Amino acid sequence: MVERRLTGMIAAAAVLIVLFVFWDLLRPAPQPVAAESDEPVRIAEPAPAPPDAVPPQAPATSTTTTQGNAVPLDPGGREPSYFELMARSETRRRIRSSGTTTYLGEMIDASGDSMLRRWENRQTTPIRVYFAPTHAANFQPAFVDAIKSAFDLWSSAGVPVRFNFDADSTNAEVTVKWRIQFEIERTGQTDVTWDENGNIQSAVVTLATFDPKGRPMDADDIRVVSTHEVGHVLGLDHSKDSADIMFPTAKVRDLSDRDVRTVLLLYQLIPGSLR
Ligand SMILES: [Zn+2]
Repeated sequence: MVERRLTGMIAAAAVLIVLFVFWDLLRPAPQPVAAESDEPVRIAEPAPAPPDAVPPQAPATSTTTTQGNAVPLDPGGREPSYFELMARSETRRRIRSSGTTTYLGEMIDASGDSMLRRWENRQTTPIRVYFAPTHAANFQPAFVDAIKSAFDLWSSAGVPVRFNFDADSTNAEVTVKWRIQFEIERTGQTDVTWDENGNIQSAVVTLATFDPKGRPMDADDIRVVSTHEVGHVLGLDHSKDSADIMFPTAKVRDLSDRDVRTVLLLYQLIPGSLR
């Protein structure tokens, strides 16, 4: 009797051992636990974060300057749909096929985020522009007319955007303000804010009343600088060709055909990431 019980216990122990072995073999491998972040789960050695990674506290909108130091956006970490990817590939094709007749391709290549930025079609509800009052030395009322003519120049080139110059500081979408001089080689600067879909939300244009060498600007200088800055307001970055008004240090005093073709193509395309 004792012998049978012993045999039974040994058999039960053997079954348990076999079960343990199989359990160990069959149970799923442990998964790394994802931290509370949008970071993808890393299985191998973590790669160093890219230098331009968005800090976690980055706001939903981002800002660029005329220097084009754009911050890449991550629209909620959402993967683009098949149709969005198709649309992006069609947009890239249209930019490529414009070749050197526009600088949209070089603009995207030079950008850190491959993002097309522009206003929505604003022909029926013009963009509200506010001219901040100033006591800057050498400021002349004629400067404001010069800036208005720069805005109108782009509109009359066929961009589907109009401007209303009667805004006040509370409802302005574009603010034009003044300073006497920039510390660096510059007479104007534009800061643009856009959403995750590439729709520009607002812009601030800052113009200097003296050039970096201390020479007073005249109304026609202001017209030229603001023509360049309004290009930025509309979503253009710099051209590498000094025949274009969007050359970083404008050498020409009016829009080139390439400036016009570039902005018109931009306003035919769906804004947003091209990646
Ligand atoms: Zn510029």
